[in-house]
Order: sequence, then structure tokens, then C-alpha cells
Amino acid sequence: MISKTNEWIIRQLSLGEFASRKAVFSRSVRMAVKIAAFAYLLNVLSHFGLVAFGLLPYDLGPALVIATVLTPPVSFIVALLAYSVVGFAVYDLGVSRQRFEELSRTDMLSGLMNRRAFLDEFEKSRGPVSLLLFDIDRFKAVNDSLGHKAGDDVIVTVAAVMAVAVKGRGVLSRIGGEEFAVLLAGEAPQDAMQLADEIRARVADASIGTVGRVFSVTVSGGVTDATADRGFSEIFSDADMALYHAKATGRNRIVHAASLISAAGDRSRQQTPIIDAPATLRRA
Ligand code: GH3
Ligand code: MG
Ligand code: MG
Repeated sequence: MISKTNEWIIRQLSLGEFASRKAVFSRSVRMAVKIAAFAYLLNVLSHFGLVAFGLLPYDLGPALVIATVLTPPVSFIVALLAYSVVGFAVYDLGVSRQRFEELSRTDMLSGLMNRRAFLDEFEKSRGPVSLLLFDIDRFKAVNDSLGHKAGDDVIVTVAAVMAVAVKGRGVLSRIGGEEFAVLLAGEAPQDAMQLADEIRARVADASIGTVGRVFSVTVSGGVTDATADRGFSEIFSDADMALYHAKATGRNRIVHAASLISAAGDRSRQQTPIIDAPATLRRA
């Protein structure tokens, strides 16, 4: 009984049946009606029981009239009050629990999903996935020359630009200081590469206005395609290697991990592992 009650409360805390104040109230009314009917039935049966044993100290007729007039409304009101007080308390707890969960999954600066939530999303994925990693180029220089507040504003703008590009296609997260990741499930590898380059181009085009200055920044990206069962750290390490290569070969560009492997296998042919930014966007 106690464990059943515990299970019931935990179920409600995840806002199952008590998903809104209205739901709490209508459920309280339904329960109060049932309880009132049950109380009335018990009252009537008890009277007949007392009559059967000759223990009723007054006439059955008036006693049943009183029971009928008083028991249902009184027990309905008491049950409604008790059930809704508990129901509203459970609802409030459920809402704060949900809010707390949301906060624990959100990066406070950018409003994007944080690293922990991103890992949870990865754990849920099955089959083919693509991981896109981005890192803002020469970000430390922004902090050093314009201050930490300007750096924060850059992160916020870049996050917003990325969110528009990714919207509905995958899961976007700020996984570290000035590092972002996108998880795509079930998209063709060339689509992942295309999206990565679209994100890169959008960031490069975006104007950032902060501390009285207007400027732009670029990002470099590393992309890899794999099946989710390879595990996050292995897939991440491939994408990170590709990102490292994008940084090493000039920044503001996207590199695919597969192209590094084929390039390593055939260095002499120097295949084209990189989606390069237009020359005007390149930074030294
Ligand atoms: P690279 O092009 O090689 O990526 O160079 P970088 O300057 O971007 O890389 P580096 O790793 O040297 O610098 C990252 C800096 O980001 C260092 C750290 O102080 C700063 N940083 C990390 N988190 C935050 C943050 O939340 N806000 C601000 N303003 N700065 C941050
Ligand atoms: Mg970095
Ligand atoms: Mg950086």
C-alpha cells in the first residue's frame, strides 16, 4: 500500500495526471464524487446492519433521509478540499521539478542545451549519426581586446545564428567555452557537411554589436559520420581531430574526418578534405 502510494506520487511529480491546475481540479471533483458515493453507500449499509442486529436507536426511515441529505454533500466537500490541497501541492512540486530539470540541461549563457543534455541526447540515438563540432576562431583575442563581456556577447550571437541554421534538423549544444556541437540522426553524410558549411557561412556573415563595436567572427568545424553504437567519445574524438585540422589549415573552414583518413592513406594524391571559405572570409 505504502509503495503503491509512493509510486503514485512519483508518477504525479512527473506531471502525468496533474499536468495543469485545471486537470488537478477536475480530477479532484471526479474523486470527490466517487468518495461521496462510497461514503453514502457505507452509511446506508451500516444503518441496515444496525437494524439487522436490533442496534439502531432510532427509526430507519428518518435516519436514511438524514443520511441521504447530509452524507453525500458533506463527504463531497471534505474529499474535494483534501484531494485538491494535496493535488495542487503535488502539481507545484511537479512544476518545480520540471523547471529544475530544464535548468540542469540548459547552458545559462547561450540558452542552448548544455554538454550533459547533449550526451543524454546522444545516448538516445540509434543507427547512423553525424557529429558536427564547431569552435570560434581566435576567440581569446576578443576577450583580450574587448573584454569578457564582449566575449560573452559573441558566444550568445553565434549560438543564436547556429540555432536558426539547425532548427528542426538536429540537436544543437554549447558543449564548452566557445565550442558547439550538432548531432544529426539519419541524414545523408553530404547533408551533414552541407549543414556544417551553412553554419560556418552564416556565422561569418553575422554582425556582432557589443561594447560600441560592430565586428564578425568565424568558426572552424569538424564533421564525422558513424553509427551511434561506436560510442560518444570515439565519435567525438574523430570530429575533434577534423576540427583540429580545420584550425591548422587556416580556420573558417570545415573538415570531414573521413577525408583525413583517406588523405593519410594517400598523401601523394592530396584529396580535398576541406570545405574552404571564400578567400575574402579567410583569416590569417
Ligand atoms: P582558436 O582559433 O585556436 O580556437 O583560438 P581561441 O583563441 O579561440 O582558443 P583558446 O582555446 O585559446 O581560447 C578560448 C578562450 O575562451 C579561453 C577562455 O578564456 C575563453 N572562454 C571560455 N569560456 C568563456 C565564456 O563563457 N565567456 C568568455 N567571454 N570567454 C570564455
Ligand atoms: Mg576552444
Ligand atoms: Mg577557439
